[in-house]
Amino acid sequence: MNIDNNITDKPTILAIDDNASSFDQISNTFRDSASILSAVNYQNGVEIAENEQPDLILLNDTIKDSDGLEVCLALQKRPETREIPVIIMSNNSDTSNEARSINAGAVDFIFKPLDENILKARVENQLRHKTKLDFLKTLSSIDALTEIPNRRFFDERLDQEWKRATRERYSISLLMIDIDHFKSYNDTYGHLQGDECLKIVARNLSQNLWRSSDIITRYGGEEFAVILPGTPSYSALNVAKRLWESISALEIEHSGSLSVGYLTVSIGVATLSPNEKTKPHQLIELADKNLYKSKTDGRNRVTG
Ligand code: GH3
Ligand code: MG
Ligand code: MG
Repeated sequence: MNIDNNITDKPTILAIDDNASSFDQISNTFRDSASILSAVNYQNGVEIAENEQPDLILLNDTIKDSDGLEVCLALQKRPETREIPVIIMSNNSDTSNEARSINAGAVDFIFKPLDENILKARVENQLRHKTKLDFLKTLSSIDALTEIPNRRFFDERLDQEWKRATRERYSISLLMIDIDHFKSYNDTYGHLQGDECLKIVARNLSQNLWRSSDIITRYGGEEFAVILPGTPSYSALNVAKRLWESISALEIEHSGSLSVGYLTVSIGVATLSPNEKTKPHQLIELADKNLYKSKTDGRNRVTG
């Protein structure tokens, strides 16, 4: 499982400014407490914000006659950047400019030339706030029963991975895993034991994923979804077989599982190479179709 958060890491600040002395000042102020990224024009700044996901953006409101507040608005509109706080830095001391900045979605406003103490206090204040929001976001992405990431996390992460794979031109595989005859497990052993069983299955699946980029989630009920970025079809099938075997090897008694007497899973595997014309739901549909085939062919198997 890997839910990204910056709770313990050094925060990253992106400074979008064409003024070298401002950039030096920012770098010096946060030399020990943050990693600093820089962009000297708006287009590059937006690209870095999207790709690097900094914790905070310091945005000069005017670069070569272009309006930085338009950039601030654009950052708010993009799902990839809308949660990154932006502090506007401005030479314009007009109060209406400060109000315009806040209305454009900035969280704070600092006058230039930068005063080091004010810069430090304002940035640290926003970073503290961001840390709390990240923590709440992490909590809201975890399934309370199994303590692995939930469906909300799956949806967000598949979207992000899809975009990254489109940019970097690699394939993504998806495994849909469904416990066989789980209704009858609950009917036979009770819901509480059913819950325990889900926890064991989730832990076991997590332990049998070996690459840190692999992502296991509870898709819903007794279904789990595993995203395997950068994994071609034959490797995904191998991972699926390993997971399928690892659940059988637990030999969890299940008298309602007519064929074998212990708990088994069915798995559907799909792989796509994303491009600008494809969407993540196509991968989900393919994996679902293969899961359905595993079920109709007799359960307790992998279909890819
Ligand atoms: P199939 O082999 O076709 O997948 O059969 P199934 O019985 O597993 O599938 P079905 O969709 O009929 O039933 C799923 C069961 O999973 C029913 C539901 O009560 C149980 N379930 C879903 N979420 C939970 C949970 O959080 N705890 C427990 N104990 N059971 C759950
Ligand atoms: Mg199901
Ligand atoms: Mg099932």
